[in-house]
Amino acid sequence: MSAAVVEKSQQSPENQGNQGKAREGAFGNARALSCRECGHEVELGPHYACSECFGPLEIAYDFPQVTREEIEAGPRNIWRYKALLPVPTDIETSPNTEPGFTRLLQANNLAAELGLAKLWVKDDSTNPTNSFKDRVVACALSAARELGAKVFACPSTGNLANAVAAAGARAGMKTVVFIPSNLEQPKQVNSAVFTDSLVAVEGNYDDVNKLASEIAGEEDGWAFVNVNVRPYYAEGSKTLGYEIAEQLGWRLPDQVVIPVASGSQLTKVHKAFQELIALGLVEEKPYKVYGAQAAGCSPVSVAYKAGVDAIRPVKPDTIAKSLAIGNPADGIYVLDVCRQTGGAVEDVTDDEVREAIVLLARTEGIFTETAGGTTVGVLKKLVESGQLDPELETVVINTGHGLKTLDAVAGSVGPVATIPPSYAAFAATGLA
Ligand SMILES: *Cc1c(COP(=O)(O)O)cnc(C)c1O
Ligand SMILES: [Zn+2]
Repeated sequence: MSAAVVEKSQQSPENQGNQGKAREGAFGNARALSCRECGHEVELGPHYACSECFGPLEIAYDFPQVTREEIEAGPRNIWRYKALLPVPTDIETSPNTEPGFTRLLQANNLAAELGLAKLWVKDDSTNPTNSFKDRVVACALSAARELGAKVFACPSTGNLANAVAAAGARAGMKTVVFIPSNLEQPKQVNSAVFTDSLVAVEGNYDDVNKLASEIAGEEDGWAFVNVNVRPYYAEGSKTLGYEIAEQLGWRLPDQVVIPVASGSQLTKVHKAFQELIALGLVEEKPYKVYGAQAAGCSPVSVAYKAGVDAIRPVKPDTIAKSLAIGNPADGIYVLDVCRQTGGAVEDVTDDEVREAIVLLARTEGIFTETAGGTTVGVLKKLVESGQLDPELETVVINTGHGLKTLDAVAGSVGPVATIPPSYAAFAATGLA
């Protein structure tokens, strides 16, 4: 902590209320919060923007030597990587949803369909609330607890609200979750069942997010997982990268396709791969990172294709609501990662999203939500357009469950025939 520069403003009790005093070891091997833009460091606390340049803060660590054996001896959830996360060493003992260590499935049928030599699906739909958001929320919950927050909250495109509401319930913490009022009904119910404080806001996600920032500024003791504890939250996505590497037998894939909403997940999977290399847990090798967006909300893909560095915010209009962030906080870093690694950012139409949901279901028996439809649809498009090498080993991430977005495909799949219970009627369908 000695090297960290701590601003007076961030130390002042008036600014932090009774939040911000964390116990020794509260954040494990994390050393400080470091600005992604200027490198300025501040003490670990409920801060998210750099006081010098307003750049986003992220967690910096002093990692000890970590071995594969130590990790393998850990629990079958994200806490096996606790030494690499901003959480205390006894994190498993605090009630949480224990997400992670989801299946990495070899997808031979889908690979054959797309003409790929080797394809894996990292299936995060089997997390406790059926999306990858349980990972980030588990890390945010730990930070909220260590910082003494009274309310666990979030603005959400849907899945985050589900994960926050469930994790808060399990932790015995008050939760308040904010969603756009036009959200899919299953995602509303999936939150409301866990919390009596679901607030539907008339507006899109970016409006909800703005409101959350305002509340975070007004109220003491509120931990908004993706606003004022965002640096801790974001680290949870690294566990996807760790797991992919460990499940491949401690090596990195050649190519990975990742959905982009705020862009946090994609940048953190890359950070995870880099950390594993730096720690000597995997061999260093080149890999390409690809970002997936829906055409109706594709500000990062548009910037990528235009060859520019700035993201122009858009008003989302897509069935991929979990990816519908028109002004993505980490968009510029997604561009950096995809360009640096030789990957790309691509987008697909809502019809292609629907087709890809059915394609994944019929080839691999995995029912994904619209975000996964977007990612698989983009994978297909990347192969067809020659942007992704079909001979290289590829991982595609399925981040959520199809039962949450049933309406997306309810119009395109259904009974092939409705018949009276007679053999003759069945035979007439041609299925016999
Ligand atoms: C939130 C979410 C994402 C993307 O998250 P970011 O880190 O904000 O880019 C992807 N898939 C699903 C299902 C999500 O809910
Ligand atoms: Zn800065």
